[in-house]
Amino acid sequence: MTPRIRPDLATLPAYVPGKTFPGAVKLASNEVTFGPLPSVAAAIADAAAGLNRYPDNAMVALTEALAKRLGVTPDNIQTGCGSVSLCQNLIAITSAPGDEVLFGWRSFETYPLATRVVGATPVQIPLTGDHTYDLPAMADAITERTRLIFVCNPNNPTGTVVDADDLIAFLDRVPPEVVVALDEAYIEYLRPSAEQRYDAIELHRRYRNLVVLRTFSKAYGLAGLRVGYAIADPTVIEALRKVHVPFSVNTLAQAAAVACLAADAELLARTEAIVAERARVSARLTELGYRVPESQANFVWIDLGADALDFAAAGIEHKVVIRPFAGDGVRVTVTEPAENDVFLAFAERWVSDVKAGGHR
Ligand SMILES: *Cc1c(COP(=O)(O)O)cnc(C)c1O
Repeated sequence: MTPRIRPDLATLPAYVPGKTFPGAVKLASNEVTFGPLPSVAAAIADAAAGLNRYPDNAMVALTEALAKRLGVTPDNIQTGCGSVSLCQNLIAITSAPGDEVLFGWRSFETYPLATRVVGATPVQIPLTGDHTYDLPAMADAITERTRLIFVCNPNNPTGTVVDADDLIAFLDRVPPEVVVALDEAYIEYLRPSAEQRYDAIELHRRYRNLVVLRTFSKAYGLAGLRVGYAIADPTVIEALRKVHVPFSVNTLAQAAAVACLAADAELLARTEAIVAERARVSARLTELGYRVPESQANFVWIDLGADALDFAAAGIEHKVVIRPFAGDGVRVTVTEPAENDVFLAFAERWVSDVKAGGHR
């Protein structure tokens, strides 16, 4: 007899992380290239001395620091082991088998996987022609089984953002009992136009069903430590605390996140260089003939259709690792100029190879 495992899990694909190849430039996981700031490394080293003790399960220092920074109260905040765990927790507190979790597609790969883990049904609404969340179509797709809606803004992997008016019109159409998770993992890279500008913290006061998700993994550079947070109405936060895996935000992660908030200005200043590089990389790719939607994140999307896998495989031969999505496109992290240049040299080479008949 083999152990009895839920049979529906057999059809569930595993989460595919960005790959690492020795000697290659890794542009597959939207990481920053810098290690932790000296002040953050020192906080981690100090906290290491106390690792014989369990972490603070209430995450008091971090929760208070976040509440202060964001202008909310601690009962509006829950931290998690990366914001992916908060995505899972939101599904757990809202959805059971037969319920629907709605989101745009293509978007963050965790949404469909985590939905299926609880036996709920993912409902994926195609992005618009310009690779943006189609909020009117999502509002039309709400049924009495809809329990949770993810809006990823900027969207991973396309980098696109919705207009603020469209977001508000959407929130007005969502029934107040349906939770909306606004996933802002890349918010620090957003340089919004007047039409794109909104304040999620303000919105969560107006819409009590709105949960804002953010993370220390991207602009704050702590991907390896696993800390994210949710900002929401206390009723939602209370439920998130019930399903929190005890002690899953570890001692080092809590100390490092607090130290990052203290060095906030320095870390956020680094995003300026990425934003400038994003413009340079996007412009060059467009000049080379690639279809690149305007990105507001630390990566760009290249619409490659059927060539996506071939392009990424050729990249590895040129020592650059990017993230392909079969039949659709590739996502390429924007980092420092030297690394971006390695990618651009490859992208240029691909175009001349295609012209020479080297690829399909
Ligand atoms: C990276 C990412 C996250 C969260 O990452 P954690 O490392 O788990 O905090 C959440 N949502 C999106 C869309 C992301 O790209």
